[in-house]
Amino acid sequence: MANIIGSPERYIQGREVLGELCKHIQNIGKLPFILVSASGKERVENIIVKSAEEYNTKLVFEVFGGECSRNEINRLVKVYKESGCDMVVGIGGGKIHDTAKALAFYAESPVVIVPTIAGTDAPCSALSVIYTDDGAFEEYLFLPRNPNMVLVDTQIISCAPARLLVSGMGDALATYFEARACMQSDSPNFIGGYHTVTSMAIARLCYDTLLSDGVKALVSAQAKVCTKALENIVEANTYLSGIGFESCGIAAAHAIHNGLTAIHETHQCYHGEKVAFGTLTQLVLENASTEEFEEVINFCLEVGLPVTLGDLGIHEIKTNELMEVAKLACGPNDTMGNMPFSLTPEMVCDAIIATDKLGHYYKAKHL
Ligand SMILES: [Zn+2]
Repeated sequence: MANIIGSPERYIQGREVLGELCKHIQNIGKLPFILVSASGKERVENIIVKSAEEYNTKLVFEVFGGECSRNEINRLVKVYKESGCDMVVGIGGGKIHDTAKALAFYAESPVVIVPTIAGTDAPCSALSVIYTDDGAFEEYLFLPRNPNMVLVDTQIISCAPARLLVSGMGDALATYFEARACMQSDSPNFIGGYHTVTSMAIARLCYDTLLSDGVKALVSAQAKVCTKALENIVEANTYLSGIGFESCGIAAAHAIHNGLTAIHETHQCYHGEKVAFGTLTQLVLENASTEEFEEVINFCLEVGLPVTLGDLGIHEIKTNELMEVAKLACGPNDTMGNMPFSLTPEMVCDAIIATDKLGHYYKAKHL
């Protein structure tokens, strides 16, 4: 198997770049089909219409139905084909990205992703997560290519809730450690190959950027101001983590996240919040050095990522429930098998409990 790195053809990030949308998409298509939520449309329509006037571009807006489901994708493919549009532009959060990518795949069109939050590392990837109409996970749709363009307006992101940016940091926190595990175990990445020196360097840069700019970015997001530190974190959450996870692979942190979703109480947490706890658990499984563990947990405490099960909403710890989480995490279709040593559900369950105890220990020290 070859070493393969994937990425969007172009990544554009900056303050007020949404106002340049029609300039940047000129080489991709002439008539954009803009998929956006009803509330998102209210926020961005004026900016995009102004940009369209400047570049003499016609626009077609379509309001997203709310779920990235087969029914919604099929509906959109029909509307898209009737519209005469020649490119898809998805503006909003994770489900709109996934839907826009799936729509573009089935309609055989180029796609541009415009995230309005930096809450996950999904925008740059060649992957869509498909749900049922009721919002339950259905399947991963692996796409043959990454988006043609990802355009990130940091002014807009700086005004989104700070907790979403922190959640994105939690997702990005796992990237380097999962990449390192996949490298040690010689596990393949998401695009049918192995990591490259470039993708490993990107994963490491992602972690280093979190450590150097995470707290500063959090404070910026709380004040709803756009600073260099916030821009660096937006890039880490969106691009560095996106390329890092897809081109290096994932391991225990995300497997534990997936297991945790079985516990109802955790549904109030965002993806990246659970992934952060999964990252700490992965470090416990690896018996990482105290120095490294402290660096990661202190980062979590500084920015407000969960370090205990209580932080995830699990106030009463039931070992049988955690065993279910561990069994799911060790399932044949999950990525626990990408760890460099073999693990049983019992070992994972014990590591989750140990992580929770360590979380309490360091929380007390941190105060
Ligand atoms: Zn993730």
